[in-house]
Amino acid sequence: MSKPFLISHLESNDYPWGEISTSMVELEATCRNHKDRTDTLQVPRNHWYEYVKGAYVQDVFPYLSPQGREVIISQRMPYAYLCEECWNQLGEEE
Ligand SMILES: [Zn+2]
Repeated sequence: MSKPFLISHLESNDYPWGEISTSMVELEATCRNHKDRTDTLQVPRNHWYEYVKGAYVQDVFPYLSPQGREVIISQRMPYAYLCEECWNQLGEEE
């Protein structure tokens, strides 16, 4: 599999959107508390592009877990990602 596209590579209007066939894109997100902990997620490439073009994560990826959606969202806010363990700790502190 080729390396995942970075979001900055997708903002050009001349990107050949119509030529992209359905395949999987792999996304990575590194926990902001655990620098050595990276979660990966594979989603259909055409769904990923819908999100990049401005659709809401919950509309494009209704089948993902909340944690999976965090990986998606973190592609736009790479320093905001928390791994599942950190999310669970947040819950316990309340
Ligand atoms: Zn963490």
